[in-house]
Amino acid sequence: MECVERLRLFLVESPIKMARLQGIGNIKGTVKRVLVELTSSSGITGWGEAAPWEVFTGTAEGAFAAIDIYLRPYVIGAPVKEIRALTHTMDKALVGHGEAKLAIEMAMYDILGKSCGLSVADLLGGRVRNEIPLSFSIADPDFGADMARMEEMVRSGHEIFKVKTGVKSHREDMSHLEAMREAFGDRLDLRIDYNQALQPFGAISVLRDVERFRPTFIEQPVPRDCLSAMASFVEALDTPILADESCFDARDVMELVRLKAADAISVKLMKAGGILKAQAQMAIADTARLPGYGGTLWEGGIALAAGTQFIAATPGVSLGCEFYMPHHVLTEDVLEKRIENRSGRVVIPDGAGLGICVSDTSLRSNARVIEER
Ligand SMILES: [Mg+2]
Repeated sequence: MECVERLRLFLVESPIKMARLQGIGNIKGTVKRVLVELTSSSGITGWGEAAPWEVFTGTAEGAFAAIDIYLRPYVIGAPVKEIRALTHTMDKALVGHGEAKLAIEMAMYDILGKSCGLSVADLLGGRVRNEIPLSFSIADPDFGADMARMEEMVRSGHEIFKVKTGVKSHREDMSHLEAMREAFGDRLDLRIDYNQALQPFGAISVLRDVERFRPTFIEQPVPRDCLSAMASFVEALDTPILADESCFDARDVMELVRLKAADAISVKLMKAGGILKAQAQMAIADTARLPGYGGTLWEGGIALAAGTQFIAATPGVSLGCEFYMPHHVLTEDVLEKRIENRSGRVVIPDGAGLGICVSDTSLRSNARVIEER
């Protein structure tokens, strides 16, 4: 039986082009990620990535140690076909550290796909779409720079922009939203993301104000545990409310459904801690008729390839994705060739496994390796 024979692990740091003001945590300069390469007994390699964010899910150093010390013994020798069994074993062996477990699961799927000539989307039930609409987040501290960027992106076919609000004053947020609608009119699919910035007290009047700009949804206006406030917004507003930080796992989705505290959810592989777990979340959301949105933390090309394959095979994730990092934020990426973006859409790659190529050269010349094992 084909098994995993070797595990190589890299803690890498990648420079980014622009500062990001994100409310719960700001990003400037570099982002750290963990990359993992598994090799099977017949010599097939698979890649995985853990991209935690310390204010959201955990740390890259924690994911590195989790794989190196705690998961490695279960991964070495694991049959490449028994992915679900390995995810159960990892959950029993180590609490939390979803990103680390996800990195292993995605590398296993990459190997399995390559071994039988199928893409990861094929293994997950097959493609239901060939492209995913791409959302770009407006989060530059310099709004003028964002407007210039939007100008260029709109010209090349982008329509979806998500504005990070609640970081600057409400008055500034309003003037930015107004400037965007004025410059680009109704062809923009405008979304608003508060990243938990508002307190329930007084939030409704702020949300009623921004609703004037006809956003497609308002994401996570209040802290993650304020579900009754979320439910009151769902009830009071015409604009759909999307849960991000309030929705990490399948139980969270059940709770959101039970309390009617969201109209849609953001599914992130890094929050879910697994592709299968993300599909389980969407099964509940589908049943309750809540559409999904493909969110991200600070993933590079490997993790976003997994996200792309997941959305390709998961019909309920119908609100697009924000997989813009490799083309617009990272100055470089570890893939030999980035996944194509065309007219504001992510094109699902053809090819087996994750549909990407990573080599030692592409890795080392495009990221700073801080530690490897
Ligand atoms: Mg968000």
